[in-house]
Amino acid sequence: MTVDETLALVGNPNSGKTTLFNSLTGAKQRIGNWPGVTVERKSSRLKANHALIVEDLPGTYSLSPYSSEEIVTRDFLFEQQPDLVLNVVDARNLERNLYLTLQVMEIGRPLIVALNMMDVLEKASRRTINLKKLSYALQVPVIGTTATKPGALKELVQAIQAPLPKPYAFPEYDPRLESALSMLEEVIGKRVEADRSRWYAIKLFEKDPQVTAQLALTPAEQKQVTEILHTAEHLFDDASDSIIVNARYDFIARVMAMCVVDKTDFVMSVSDRIDRIVTDRYLAMPIFVLVMWAVYYLSIQTIGTIGTDYLNDTVFGGWLRFWFSIFSVRLVLRQLAPCTGSLVMHAGRGARSVTKQAWLI
Ligand code: GDP
Ligand code: MG
Repeated sequence: MTVDETLALVGNPNSGKTTLFNSLTGAKQRIGNWPGVTVERKSSRLKANHALIVEDLPGTYSLSPYSSEEIVTRDFLFEQQPDLVLNVVDARNLERNLYLTLQVMEIGRPLIVALNMMDVLEKASRRTINLKKLSYALQVPVIGTTATKPGALKELVQAIQAPLPKPYAFPEYDPRLESALSMLEEVIGKRVEADRSRWYAIKLFEKDPQVTAQLALTPAEQKQVTEILHTAEHLFDDASDSIIVNARYDFIARVMAMCVVDKTDFVMSVSDRIDRIVTDRYLAMPIFVLVMWAVYYLSIQTIGTIGTDYLNDTVFGGWLRFWFSIFSVRLVLRQLAPCTGSLVMHAGRGARSVTKQAWLI
């Protein structure tokens, strides 16, 4: 790096920015406030190279223009154009921290990621992060750090002073979103410098009020923007601002799947263990024979015999036989009912005619 260049430290609150700032600068910082807000401003020179001014930016989770911290950080990155951005990422909360990383990348300044709290991550030993893959996935240098151990920051200090690759790689999102962004870039045209137009396009897509006002588009251009957003919203069946949020989370999910190994993923469940034994090359057949024998023994010798004895002696031999005999008698009687009826009728008629005859005599 050449004379008086600026290095901006950005990151989520409590990711270790100030600790890293103190370690990198020897804590001889200038403390003040950012203009117009009460947010603290700290800057100092890198211990290893006094030509480099380090700015400790306020901790923030995103670069939306809502809180003072977000506005200060966003304006500094975009307006002051630091020569290098050092994004301090808490390795324990990689997923959440990467959301800011993507937003910083969208701005397009050269970036290094310091994956901090590596000591805690290693001690917890629940997950490991593959730094090389993370660097490949993000297309930026990633250095593991423990900000509380200044002696272990050599690699980071070297990376800060090394020349950075150009051109800068932007995170690439869903192709449908990418095509909407390039159409928006065309509408924005030469209003902004070429390397900033993608960021402006993203902000237009997000319907960022500040940027939309700043661009001062003509009514015809504004109509074009509305049409592009409409088409995208129709394609994604979602509001344009949440399309961008989802695109970032999709990107993060891909990065996480590529770089993070949760050790608990390798702990075998009970069913996995059983599967491993019963599908063993040598044990599978004897286990199968044993299980079949057990089924036969249980059904024929023990439970089966008890069951059939109970059915024979108690169910069919006892109360079922009783009810069956009652049912059979009723059935026989019902079958005989018409005959007995006519018999009684005939007997009745016979008796009546005999009585009649007696009367006449
Ligand atoms: P900031 O909000 O990003 O400026 O975070 P700070 O620098 O104030 O750090 C927050 C807390 O994390 C402090 O208690 C630090 O001592 C601690 N801390 C920072 N970096 C590390 C690290 O690498 N390892 C460990 N174990 N603690 C750290
Ligand atoms: Mg701080």
